[in-house]
Parts: sequence; C-alpha cells; structure tokens
Amino acid sequence: MSNLKVDNLRRNYGSVEALDGMSFDVAEGEFFCLLGPSSSGKTTTLRAIAGLEELAGGAVHFSGQDVTEAPVQGRGMSMIFQTFALYPHLSVEANLAHPLRRSGASSADVKKRVDEVSELLRVTHTLKRKPSTLSGGEQQRVAIGRAIVGRPKLLLLDEPLTNLDAKLRHEMRAEFKRLHRELGMTMLYATPDQLEALTMGERVGVIKDGKVVAIGAPRDLYQHPGDTYVAQMVGSPPINFLSATGSGDNQVELPFLGLPVAAPGVASGQSVTLGLRPHDISLAGGGSSRATRFPAKIHLTEPLGDVTVIDVTARETGMKMVLREEIAAKYNVGDDIEIAFDPEDLHVFDPSTGARLGNGATQKN
Ligand code: ADP
Ligand code: MG
Repeated sequence: MSNLKVDNLRRNYGSVEALDGMSFDVAEGEFFCLLGPSSSGKTTTLRAIAGLEELAGGAVHFSGQDVTEAPVQGRGMSMIFQTFALYPHLSVEANLAHPLRRSGASSADVKKRVDEVSELLRVTHTLKRKPSTLSGGEQQRVAIGRAIVGRPKLLLLDEPLTNLDAKLRHEMRAEFKRLHRELGMTMLYATPDQLEALTMGERVGVIKDGKVVAIGAPRDLYQHPGDTYVAQMVGSPPINFLSATGSGDNQVELPFLGLPVAAPGVASGQSVTLGLRPHDISLAGGGSSRATRFPAKIHLTEPLGDVTVIDVTARETGMKMVLREEIAAKYNVGDDIEIAFDPEDLHVFDPSTGARLGNGATQKN
C-alpha cells in the first residue's frame, strides 16, 4: 500500500523550474532514496512534502489523505536537514525534549521518550552536555533523535551525511539502516551520493531537472538502466561509454572489436553508445568462456585501498576497470595486457536520446 503519494508537483523560482512534475510513491515502512545531483530539486521536494513550499501544482497524499494544503504541524512528518542545527544554549537532553515539550507532553512522558531515544541513538552519555562539546557524529545522532522523538510516521532526510567525514558517513549509513529496521518508520532520504542511495534504499528514485526519471531497486537500476543518465548516476566508478557503429545483422563495431548485440533495430551504419561497467571488465584468462577479449595498454592506476581503478586504452578508446589491489600491484603504467568482458554485460544506448536499445549478446561460435 502506498503511504506517501507525490503527484506531479510543480514549483518554480522565477524562470527556474525547481519541480517540473515531480511524482513518486513510497510504501508504508519503506526506505526510499531520492538520488539526484545538486540543484535537481531534492530539497524542494522534501520541503513540499513537509508543507514548507508554495506549490504551483500537484498534490501530496499521505496515509490516505490529501495533505497538499494541510498545515505543517499535524502532518505526522519530521525532517532532518543537511546542517543539523541544534540549539547551542540547550543541553542535549533539552534539545531532545524540545519537540515534546512544544506539543505539551507531560514531564514523565518527556523523560521516558528522551531516555528511549537517547538509548536507541547511543547518546545517553552526552545528555547533560552542550551540543558544541559533541563530535560531528554525536551531534548528527542528536539531530536524528530530535526528529524521531515525537514518533513521526514519515521521516524526511535531506543529505544528512553530507557534512560528515568519510568514516562517519560509513558508520551512519549502517546506523540509518538499523534505525529503519528497529523503528519500522517510513523514510524518504535525499542524496547526491549514489553509494548512499544504493546501500540504504530499498528503492531509489533517480531525479533529473525536477522530476523522477527512473524508479527501481538498486540492483535493477544498476543492471538495467533505462538510459545513459541513469546508467551514469548509478555505479562507481562511473560506467564507461564507448562509441560504436552498427554493422548490420545484430552486430556493432568498436574501433578495436566487433561484437554481437541483442538490440533489434540497430541498422548498419547507425551510431550507438555502448555502456560497460568498470566492474564488468576483467583480465583475460581464467574467465568465463563467454568472454570477449582484446589487447589494451595501462594508462593510469588509481589505488583506492582494497581495489585499484585502472585506466586502459584499447586502440585510442579509453575505459576504466577495477582490480583487487593485490592483483593490480603486479602491473605498471605502460604495460600491455589482455582484458575481457562478457558481452551480455554490455548496455546499448541511442547516442542522441540516451535511451536503452538493448544489451550485448553472447558470441556464437
Ligand atoms: P537540490 O536539493 O537537489 O540541490 P533544490 O531543491 O535545492 O535542489 O533546488 C532546485 C532548484 O531550485 C535549483 O536550481 C535551485 O537553485 C532553485 N532554488 C531552490 N530554492 C530556491 C530559492 N529559495 N530561490 C531561488 N531558487 C531556488
Ligand atoms: Mg538540497
């Protein structure tokens, strides 16, 4: 059952269409991520759902009711912002109690809820302190606590990890998943970071220019991106795009390789864009029998710790691949190698519209 229904929202600032027909549904208890670059309309969408935006059109339904015109208070929603401003002059305890006090809860109730929430978020040891004496991660946990202490039915999260360092972001991703499991709350999480969206979201809505252009489970978006925009938004390092030409008979030609494709309608002489994920390229030898292999030269290596991203060129065509660090360590810039991929991992797109035309096919021998 759909718990939140966002239908064709419109919002403009002068000539800027911040929301241009924003639509998506979130199921009850779901962890839904909105993934989009900066300025694509994420914040405006969350604010519109919370009732903080003047809309030019569209509707928001929540728990079966049209709340488009409903006041902010009483929607049963709570929002966490990118800058998690806490009241600096109040203790952590008073910060957590604030939303409850404002809604007129009894002192006994306030104490009970603050204790519960601080335990859940592991900030009990900070209750008597001022926010400025807490680490960034602790402050963010308190901000989350303040947002959930009133037991909202929907939690709106606007890039809550963007201002934290890499290690904390990693910890907090796990923390959000735990909270979601333990609270069973519906969560709508906006982020420009594909890793956050793919690791946390049960479903992800990909935003472009004020509207959702694709919705799916992370695996579906990764394996079957509907166009080049979605293909490059999802996956890291980003997908390789290679220019090729149809040669008729379900075959395309790269400058260094001819390949069969399952993309009906690709005509002889037609330009196509082939998408090939760095993780789908391997060293030749010992791999799948379906693999297509070709020579390449190592152009650049980028060690990331456990894996190394390798830039290779095959007949002037550059692409990235990913190798485990201990394997990559055996190679140097300038080395000639043979690399391979399974043709079925190829994505075939139309270069002018970006639309998916099909995928690669297994070589017939
Ligand atoms: P995101 O959160 O994805 O970065 P926003 O929702 O903040 O995107 O913004 C969407 C678009 O609306 C952007 O082009 C932004 O510049 C514009 N915008 C947002 N808020 C305002 C505002 N208060 N005044 C003018 N333009 C705004
Ligand atoms: Mg924003």
